[in-house]
Amino acid sequence: CGCSLGTASEEPKTRQVIAMTTIMNLRVYGKKSDRALNDGEKEIHRIDARLSVGNSDSEVSKLNAAGGGVVSGDVATLMQKALDIYRSTDGAFDISIYPIMKLWGFTEVYDESDPKTSTKVKHIPSSSAIAQTLTKVDASKIRYDAKTKTLDLPADMQIDFGGIAKGYTSQRLIDIMKKDGVTAAMVELGGNVQVYGQKPDGSPWRVGIANPKNREKMVGTLNLTKSCAVITSGSYERYITDSTGRKYHHIIDPNTGYPAESGLASVTIVCKDGTTADALSTALFVMGKDKAIAYWRAHHQMFDAILVDQNQRVYVTAGAIKAFQKNAGFSVREI
Ligand code: ADP
Ligand code: MG
Ligand code: MG
Repeated sequence: CGCSLGTASEEPKTRQVIAMTTIMNLRVYGKKSDRALNDGEKEIHRIDARLSVGNSDSEVSKLNAAGGGVVSGDVATLMQKALDIYRSTDGAFDISIYPIMKLWGFTEVYDESDPKTSTKVKHIPSSSAIAQTLTKVDASKIRYDAKTKTLDLPADMQIDFGGIAKGYTSQRLIDIMKKDGVTAAMVELGGNVQVYGQKPDGSPWRVGIANPKNREKMVGTLNLTKSCAVITSGSYERYITDSTGRKYHHIIDPNTGYPAESGLASVTIVCKDGTTADALSTALFVMGKDKAIAYWRAHHQMFDAILVDQNQRVYVTAGAIKAFQKNAGFSVREI
């Protein structure tokens, strides 16, 4: 019939990488795709080695042990972004939450080097232990000098970039792949997706928005024609279960020390910058629907959002409504 079925160069090359307890899928188009995949894979392991709190040799572990020090370029970038978002979200995003994560045992899930920790901990801390540990959480006490890249943590304070690391990684992957000369790429780090460029066939990127209640059935799809990050935080991703079967998820309200009970089941952020998107997905989840919408109104030029509440109602901000294609059975409200 004369129609072309797509030449070899129009087919993407793909790679799967497992790191940060996450299955990562990289997909790239263009002539330089092998190099981009190799560089991307190296970059994931490089960042993981810097940020992993489960690895006592990582830069972040050493900073935590020493109460600070002069930080690398990666940590400098993350520190600035994390503190910015801490301030703009009234403390909903707080990297000093780490002692609380440890208390709940969530960090154990992150320690890939220790086989014992692959079994999930079923320990729910006492309210007094939570209150005691919360006294160590307060990012306003972090002293960080961006000029000299010097970090000074108060005694007992420890930080964790778990709420921002994968978005930073997806951003770095896209930046590196662009430099390598790929024409288009999609990286998927669990619920952290970032797309770049245009596919050879001109079709939009399609990113599914998971249904927090049922992993098989998506609430809808984003059809994207511009390079951007699409990053989701959900209460369904990682959790521990107590002896009664009650689930406790890993996004903590820094005001209470307990998993955030904000009425939201997931928050998806659409933003040019992956690092910002990841921090905001965690922060807006903690804030809950009303505060999240107020935050969006004040920063709508920076990002868009899709919120799914616990009754499976879907809220989509104005800038994302055209791109969002809902699935049957869900009610969508435009913000
Ligand atoms: P995921 O890890 O599934 O991508 P998030 O991006 O929302 O989900 O990050 C959750 C992680 O962020 C937690 O595992 C923990 O390391 C960290 N974290 C939890 N609560 C907060 C918070 N309020 N502020 C900053 N980081 C947090
Ligand atoms: Mg994340
Ligand atoms: Mg996040």
